[in-house]
Amino acid sequence: MHLYVHIPFCHRICPYCAFFKHTPASTDMKLFIRALAREAEFRAAALSASRGGETSTLYFGGGTPSMLSDTHLGNLMESLDRLIPVDSLDEFSFEANPATFTEKKVRFWRSLGMNRVSLGVQSLDARILRLLGREHTPEQALRSVEMLHNAGMPHVNMDLMFAIPGQSLSVWENTLREAVRAGTDHISAYNLTYEEDTEFFRSLSRGEKIQDPDEDAAYFELAENILEAAGMRHYETSNYAREGARSPHNMAYWKGEDYVGIGPGAVSTIDGVRYSNTRNTETYIRTTLENGLPESEWEPVTAEDYRLERIALMLRTDEGLPLKYLLPEALPLLERYRSLELADVSAEQCLILKGRGRLLVDAIAAELC
Ligand code: SF4
Repeated sequence: MHLYVHIPFCHRICPYCAFFKHTPASTDMKLFIRALAREAEFRAAALSASRGGETSTLYFGGGTPSMLSDTHLGNLMESLDRLIPVDSLDEFSFEANPATFTEKKVRFWRSLGMNRVSLGVQSLDARILRLLGREHTPEQALRSVEMLHNAGMPHVNMDLMFAIPGQSLSVWENTLREAVRAGTDHISAYNLTYEEDTEFFRSLSRGEKIQDPDEDAAYFELAENILEAAGMRHYETSNYAREGARSPHNMAYWKGEDYVGIGPGAVSTIDGVRYSNTRNTETYIRTTLENGLPESEWEPVTAEDYRLERIALMLRTDEGLPLKYLLPEALPLLERYRSLELADVSAEQCLILKGRGRLLVDAIAAELC
């Protein structure tokens, strides 16, 4: 089974971010934690009955989970401990922002069973960090990695971003090389996307920023060259890992296993139904504490929806897309991809993209649907 916990709070809102998040303002944290525990309890039956595959994972995302005080996190984990096997999880991940925690705090996280921290670093260049509206400096980001390693955190991910206006290939190269030197065992390298309702999207619409797909491809290829040469495996379009450091939680999403999401804005998929919790934290707290479940919407995930999602997500992985998800009329395309050296079919009957094919993943997925 897989459990996702959404902590929607951030000290400051980054101008490119489209996640559901806000400043804590006057949120009553004690009530918020109580509501999360209540929702988890209510969904416990689904949690234990859901088709979760062979792994069990717990993932705190946001927002900024590292803003939670030890007391609040400790109380929540006491409740979750009764519902999921915290001692034997394959992954217990926590998203954190650099410079928002101490080594002592990391030791507390370890005592809870946490085995992976994902750091929102984005860049190791001071000018780019300012442009992104980030609060930390490159030095603080590197110091945070060091602290996590010193406190014995087994797995550390760094989120990095490319194709940022004003970034050059040489700035991106320096960030990648510094990240490799820092020694994290996982790196997520994302192309900046301009999501609606963000400051960046508005300035793109006003013509103050421009997008160039050819340039994006150069950033993508540079990341692949540097990170693979450093011994990391490019196991998903945006993800690189050392041996044993892949994220089972994310792999469960890509493979289409059921998962439960708790918290405002969280999504669950259980037995062919997708539930989306209210994106209003006050409403979330009130309705969950009154009724046991938050206000949420639901929609069926049909067999066709499921098939299309697998094409979009599994094609991005190095395990590839099982051919069983393709309709007969799409099969002739495989020969074309093979002859253009964009993809191979594995012995396990999966379509695996390679070379330029990895860059064209979205176009190929659209063609195969
Ligand atoms: S990018 Fe991260 S820190 Fe910035 S607003 Fe979004 S969730 Fe918060």
